[in-house]
Amino acid sequence: MSMTFSGQVVVITGAGAGIGRATALAFAAEGLSVIVADVDVPRAEQTVEFIRAAGGNAHCVPCDVTRELDVKHLMEQVLLIYGRLDYAFNNAGIEIEQGRLADGTQDEFDAIMGVNVKGVWLCMKYQLPLLMAQGGGAIVNTASVAGLGAAPKMSIYSASKHAVIGLTKSAAIEYAKKHIRVNAVCPAVIDTDMFRRAYESDPKKAEFAAAIHPVGRIGTVEEVASAVLYLCSDGAAFTTGHALAVDGGAMAI
Ligand code: NAD
Repeated sequence: MSMTFSGQVVVITGAGAGIGRATALAFAAEGLSVIVADVDVPRAEQTVEFIRAAGGNAHCVPCDVTRELDVKHLMEQVLLIYGRLDYAFNNAGIEIEQGRLADGTQDEFDAIMGVNVKGVWLCMKYQLPLLMAQGGGAIVNTASVAGLGAAPKMSIYSASKHAVIGLTKSAAIEYAKKHIRVNAVCPAVIDTDMFRRAYESDPKKAEFAAAIHPVGRIGTVEEVASAVLYLCSDGAAFTTGHALAVDGGAMAI
């Protein structure tokens, strides 16, 4: 499959770590200019350094995706710095260790929904007009297998990722005739800081995490990055409104 990305521009949220950073590096390696957005500015700057050290082109823009003014400013910076926007990967997300549903708190609910749902909604709200003005483009949002099914003690996170898929499908049908494709990736357990915070303290949890995937292991950030690049590429020209599991077969069980 050929990727025809050269000279184009992508904005990635949560690009200071994990899946976002790996995807930023992968897009840069394909010749795209990358806007690296994150609330953690030192880590976002480190992603930019890695990209530049490999000969790529990137800029860091600080952004808390829960703040409308930050998101508006981010998209203005994209135009100021590179003059165009072709793709967006709305990936910033958080998970907080939860109990069962009735044990959850309003603070947990607001925090998770704020980043995972409002953040994705705000990003698309400010990206879609730019893509329309340019005649098209593609957006990928990070959902999760927790957005396709349920797991115990993840109710708010799971609800937030179902909502990301709802936003993805809605935007896909509303903007299809504007030549904008909108898809989601749904990773299962991927080896990132988020995974390490949730599982690594307890070796039994880590073993369980590997075992829920028929392939017998957790996934890598690069495996999610390739799925994002595919969804943005011309190879996926007829794919929109889709929630693509990147899950080592977990959802097939
Ligand atoms: P991570 O914690 O390694 O990285 C997340 C990045 O998002 C961090 O750099 C963090 O600073 C940034 N971020 C957090 N809140 C933000 C905010 N308000 N504004 C801007 N940036 C913010 O996590 P990851 O594992 O790479 O997760 C990336 C996405 O993948 C998330 O949406 C997560 O829910 C999803 N996901 C992860 C897994 C997994 O197993 N790691 C599985 C399924 C889905």
